[in-house]
Amino acid sequence: MNAAALSGLDERQREAAATLRGPVAVLAGAGTGKTRVITHRIAHGVDTGAYSPGRVMALTFTAKAAGEMRGRLRALGVSGVSARTFHATALAQLNFFWPTLAGDTAPSIIDNKVRMLAHASDSIGISLDTPTLRDVASAIEWRKVKMRSIEQYAAGHPNGIGRLSVERVVDLQRAYEKLKDERRQLDFEDVLLACAGMLEAEPHVARSVREQYRHFTVDEFQDVSPLQNRLLELWLGERRDICVVGDASQTIYSFAGADARYLLDFDKTHENAKVVRLETNYRSDAAVLAVANELMKGRPGALHLTAAGDQSSDAVAATTMPTVTAFDDEAGEAREVASRIRAQIANGIDPRAIAVLYRSHAQSVEIAAALAKNGTASSVLGGRKFFDLPEVRQAVLALRGASVAPMQHGFVDTVRDVLRSLGLTNDPPEAGGALRDTWEARASLLRLAEEAPPGTTLRTFTDELVARAKSNDEPSLRTVTLATLHAAKGLEWDHVHLIGFAEGLLPISYATTFDDIDEERRLAYVGITRAARSLALTWARGSRDRQPSRFLKEIGTGTLREGGASRRVAGQSRPESRRTTGAPLRRSER
Ligand code: ATP
Ligand code: MG
Repeated sequence: MNAAALSGLDERQREAAATLRGPVAVLAGAGTGKTRVITHRIAHGVDTGAYSPGRVMALTFTAKAAGEMRGRLRALGVSGVSARTFHATALAQLNFFWPTLAGDTAPSIIDNKVRMLAHASDSIGISLDTPTLRDVASAIEWRKVKMRSIEQYAAGHPNGIGRLSVERVVDLQRAYEKLKDERRQLDFEDVLLACAGMLEAEPHVARSVREQYRHFTVDEFQDVSPLQNRLLELWLGERRDICVVGDASQTIYSFAGADARYLLDFDKTHENAKVVRLETNYRSDAAVLAVANELMKGRPGALHLTAAGDQSSDAVAATTMPTVTAFDDEAGEAREVASRIRAQIANGIDPRAIAVLYRSHAQSVEIAAALAKNGTASSVLGGRKFFDLPEVRQAVLALRGASVAPMQHGFVDTVRDVLRSLGLTNDPPEAGGALRDTWEARASLLRLAEEAPPGTTLRTFTDELVARAKSNDEPSLRTVTLATLHAAKGLEWDHVHLIGFAEGLLPISYATTFDDIDEERRLAYVGITRAARSLALTWARGSRDRQPSRFLKEIGTGTLREGGASRRVAGQSRPESRRTTGAPLRRSER
C-alpha cells in the first residue's frame, strides 16, 4: 500500500486519515492538524486508488478556506478534487439542473438584501432606516439557515425587531419573498434552500448528484447550520463516506445559525462512526498556547492545548511571552503596531508571516493607513479580489497577447518583460498606499511565473491564471495581512497583532447575553490561536474611555507581559501616552 500521504502525520492523525470508509469525526483543538488530516486523508485515498479525485467533495465555509484546501491538495500532488463552499456547490448544481427541470435558466442571485428589503418595505408603505433593514436582513438569514417558516419565526420572536412589531416583520418578510419571486431572483440562503428542495423533489437529480460525488469531507464542522447539514445529508443519501473535523471552542457563527451540536453529536447520529481526538498543537509556541488555555479555562468542553515541541508550558521564557499594551487612543495604537511590524520586517521577517487581526471591519482603516504611512504594504483578507484588481486584469490580458507572438527568450524573462512594460520596477516604490499595492500585485504575478513548474509556457501560464481567477484561487501577496477574526479562522501566521482588545470592541458592544459573550470569547480564542511564534495584544482607551477587555482579566497576568514601545523616530515618541495595563490585570482580581 502506498502510504506516502500518511507520513508526516502523528499516530492519531494517521488513524483518522487511514480510515477511508465510513463516518469519521475528528474533534480537536486549534492547530492540532485537523485540516491537515483532511487533506492527507484525501491524498491517501487518491494515492491508493480508493478514491477517484473527481468524486471527492471537500466542503468549506469560505472561499478563502476552499482556496487554502486546494492549495494544500496541490502541494500533495492531488488535482481534480472539488474543494468548494457549500454555497458554491449548491449554486453549481442549481445552475446545472434548473434548465432541464424548468426549461429556462436558473434565477439570478441578489447582491444586496438590504436594498431589496428597502423596496419591499416601500411596497407595503413602511419606511425604515438602514440599521433596522439590516436587522431584518439578519433575521431573514437566521430564519432560513434554521429552516423555519415565517410563521415559525413569528411564534419564536413575539417582540418584533426594534420598533417593528412582529406583525410588521412578518408582513415585510412576505413582501420581500414576493418581490424576489416577481423578479425571479434568489438570495444567498435561497440557493441552499432551492438546492435542497430540488434534491428532495427530484429523485433523478439526487441520483445523478450522488453518482458524481461519493466521498465527503467537511472542515470547521462546528460552524455548520441546520440548512447546510440538511444539504449534506441529501448529498450523502444512504452512503456513509463522510469525514468531518472541527473544534467546538471555535464556533463563531452561532449568530448566523451555526450549531456545534452536529459536531459533538456526530457519533450519535452516525452509527459506528470513528471518533478521533487530537491533542498536540503543532502550530504555536507554548507561550502562545498558555494564553489561549487561560482564556478558555473552565469553559464547558474546552480542550487543553499542548505544544508539540515543549510538553511543559512552565518552560516558557519571559522573552517569548505574548505581550499586552494599552494606549491613550486608537491612532497611537495603530502607529505603534505599524512601527512594530516595520521593525519585524526590517529584522528579516517575511511580511506574509505577519497579520493584524481585529473584531470589526471598520478597525482596519486606521491600521491600514498607519502601515501605508510607514511604507509597509498590507492587504485586507477578503477585501478586493486579486484577479479583479485592474493592474492584474491588465497584466493577464497583456500576457495573453504576448502568448500568441513568437517568444524572444525564456518564459520567465518574457513574463518579466511584459510586466516591466506595464510599470513593474525592480524595487518597490518608496511610497506606501495604492502605488505600492499595484507594485505588489505585479510582483506576485512575476513570482507565480518564477515558481511555475518546468515546461510552463506563456500559454499554459495564462490559462492557469484564468482558471485560478475562476476558482478564486488567489496567490499570496508579499504583504502583511489585515483580517477580521471571522475571516482569520483556520489560517495561521508566525506573528499576530490582535488589536482592539477592549470592552465594546472585543467583546463587541452588542454582545449582551451570556451566550453572546461566550461567542466573543471563542472569537478571541480563534485570534490568539492563529499565532505560531509571537502574539501581541493591544487596546486603546480612546475618546469613548474604553476599558480593557474582560478577557484580559480572565487571562490574567501569568501568561502575558507588558509590551514595550518600539524605538520611535525622535519627535514621535510620546512615552507618556502609553499606559500600563495596571490594575485590571492583577491576578488577585480574577
Ligand atoms: P485550526 O483549528 O486552527 O483550523 P487545525 O487543527 O486545522 O487548526 P492545521 O492547520 O491542520 O490545524 O495544522 C496546524 C499547523 O500544524 C499547520 O502548519 C500544520 O502543517 C502543522 N502540523 C499539523 N500536524 C503536524 C504534524 N503531524 N507534524 C508536523 N506539523 C504538523
Ligand atoms: Mg483547520
